[in-house]
Amino acid sequence: MSDPAVRNVIIIGSGPAGLTAAIYAARANLKPLCFEGFNAGGLIPGGQLMFTTEVENYPGFVEGITGPELMGRFRGQAEHQGCELITQDVEKVDFSSRPFKVWSEGELYLAKTVILSTGARANYIGLENEEKLKNRGVSACAVCDGPLFKGKNVTVVGGGDTAMEEASYLAGLCPEVLLVHRRDEFRASKTMQARVFANPKIKVLFSSEIVDVFDVTANKVTGVAVKNLKTGEVVRHATEGLFVAIGHTPLTDIVKDQVELHPNGYVKVEPGTTSTSVAGVFAAGDVQDWVYRQAITAAGTGCMAALEAERWLVVNDAH
Ligand code: NAP
Repeated sequence: MSDPAVRNVIIIGSGPAGLTAAIYAARANLKPLCFEGFNAGGLIPGGQLMFTTEVENYPGFVEGITGPELMGRFRGQAEHQGCELITQDVEKVDFSSRPFKVWSEGELYLAKTVILSTGARANYIGLENEEKLKNRGVSACAVCDGPLFKGKNVTVVGGGDTAMEEASYLAGLCPEVLLVHRRDEFRASKTMQARVFANPKIKVLFSSEIVDVFDVTANKVTGVAVKNLKTGEVVRHATEGLFVAIGHTPLTDIVKDQVELHPNGYVKVEPGTTSTSVAGVFAAGDVQDWVYRQAITAAGTGCMAALEAERWLVVNDAH
């Protein structure tokens, strides 16, 4: 059987980063192919925004827009510009020689350049009611959803920089923030901790674990059950929002042996660029960013990746 045609660009992942790369690559006439993923696998078509409700901080939408609608527009624009989208997961890649090899549903695809935009998944505690109340008071992003809880009491779980940042941000909007952490000290930087301890609106509960979230029947968060891990005592706290800030997991399973990763598992890119350790392979969005994690920053790096892929093709192999 003959080899398939070699594509200019294959984009893996269809969140804001992947679809922005798709729009730019299509407009540059690179005829990109984007694997948008299939819900059952690692990739989620549209990415993490598909799990959010109102997006009020994406510029251009004065009154806000829902996550799925925003991603529908990104997708429509990518298609309109000529990007081919395939609703399948990528199972395997081989970047050891060129053209690069990408397998999806057992079929081989070849590409001169690849843009990785598989994203990162927010970690959750793993409680049944937490799952049921996602987007109904349970959130993994205070910057995205915090303003919807203005004037309400909320709870944050976690002890890292994100938890400190989210608690401090929410304290600017809410009368009281309960910060629950499983150990008796935070792992966050001292500066971030100091900001939390100095804020009278933030109440810290150390050595504590959230063991349940209420109220599924009411279809909204009304409280959390917190267990003191030293005494075993469980106390119910009234709260209207639960912000889970216990880390993210970058979706790098298919590339972990192919490109260099940071010790925390995120794809390493040359600072100020989207170039990975493999020439011709670029990474954009949350798969390479554990600091900003915003749709707008992901879209920005998606644009960079497409422009860098285009330049790389011109220098290395005129398309
Ligand atoms: P992180 O540093 O990995 O912290 C995760 C926190 O969640 C830890 O305190 C951990 O507890 C807790 N945790 C993990 N699993 C849990 C579970 N199942 N139940 C309850 N608690 C759990 O993650 P992060 O805070 O998202 O930060 C990620 C990276 O981004 C870090 O390098 C951070 O410095 C960086 N960051 C920087 C900034 C900034 O500089 N402005 C802002 C945000 C993030 P233990 O401590 O007990 O393990």
